[in-house]
Amino acid sequence: MDPVLSIRDLSLDFETPPGPVHALRNVSLEVPRNHIVGIVGESGSGKSTVIAAAMRLLANNAVIRGGEVIFNGRDVLGMNQEELRALRGEEISMVFQDPMTSQIPVLTIGRQMTDIQYRRRNVSMAEKRNLAVEMMRRVGISDPEERLDQHPHQFSGGMRQRIAIAMALLMNPQLLIADEPTTALDVTMEAQIIHLLRELKESFEGSILFVSHNLGLIAELCDYVVVMYAGEVVEQGSVEDLFYRASHPYTQALLECDPARIEDATPALPTIPGDVPDLHIVPQGCVFAPRCPRAVARCREEPAQIATIGAGHRARCHLLGHE
Ligand code: SF4
Repeated sequence: MDPVLSIRDLSLDFETPPGPVHALRNVSLEVPRNHIVGIVGESGSGKSTVIAAAMRLLANNAVIRGGEVIFNGRDVLGMNQEELRALRGEEISMVFQDPMTSQIPVLTIGRQMTDIQYRRRNVSMAEKRNLAVEMMRRVGISDPEERLDQHPHQFSGGMRQRIAIAMALLMNPQLLIADEPTTALDVTMEAQIIHLLRELKESFEGSILFVSHNLGLIAELCDYVVVMYAGEVVEQGSVEDLFYRASHPYTQALLECDPARIEDATPALPTIPGDVPDLHIVPQGCVFAPRCPRAVARCREEPAQIATIGAGHRARCHLLGHE
């Protein structure tokens, strides 16, 4: 499949006073054109670091140790600042968890939406405003002509997130990255935003990289899923592969802990015992071994290799056949 974004063997450390944190190790994933890919994993799995690397929005202490990020055939890690400015917002744009952190409270929505179009030098202010009105309408904001003159605090949380999506789509990007975009919303708003993202993906013919810890949302929205654990991709495949044929013990454990899949009333929600390891020291064997109910002696001694389970379905575990 023709990928719009391809991350290959990406390894990245964060330099810290006690030593480097090996945050990503040999991460590979692709976002096929006109598809939605979900990245799922616990806090500390590296999913947000992957999307920061895709846009080169990394903290100053990040050091790329190897690998590449290819967007539309171009090497993102080798781009200069001018190329990055053109990439961000125009070709790739992002929706964050809390729109209040990405919208400027003292400026009207209309002013912010015309500012976003600053690179459209041959387009008049009136046309930019018309484009903003049209985009507000497409994300379901009623009376957009009047509401453009309001400030972010005059909208509800769900409306603000719709506006954040409108802002992200204003420049017609080929890839929209959504980082936990519904976590701050109630379930009704959450369902509406998921429905909106699906609809927009069809009408804009773009791709979406959707990051979430919520397996239910991933199942509802995505075509493909990448499961991350402690800075590694442990399993990836189609949404059917992951939900009906999960092969890695970590994916299986995540599914067992998903409240939506628990049929009986239980006194306490199941959890995966233990914590994501401290990545100052990369474990010698499989990174999931200390928490894995199926670990054998070999798991603590040798890193697990990627095994192919089916077309496009791969997992990193000693118990599976290797590529
Ligand atoms: Fe568990 Fe071993 Fe597979 Fe790692 S390699 S997931 S420890 S069985």
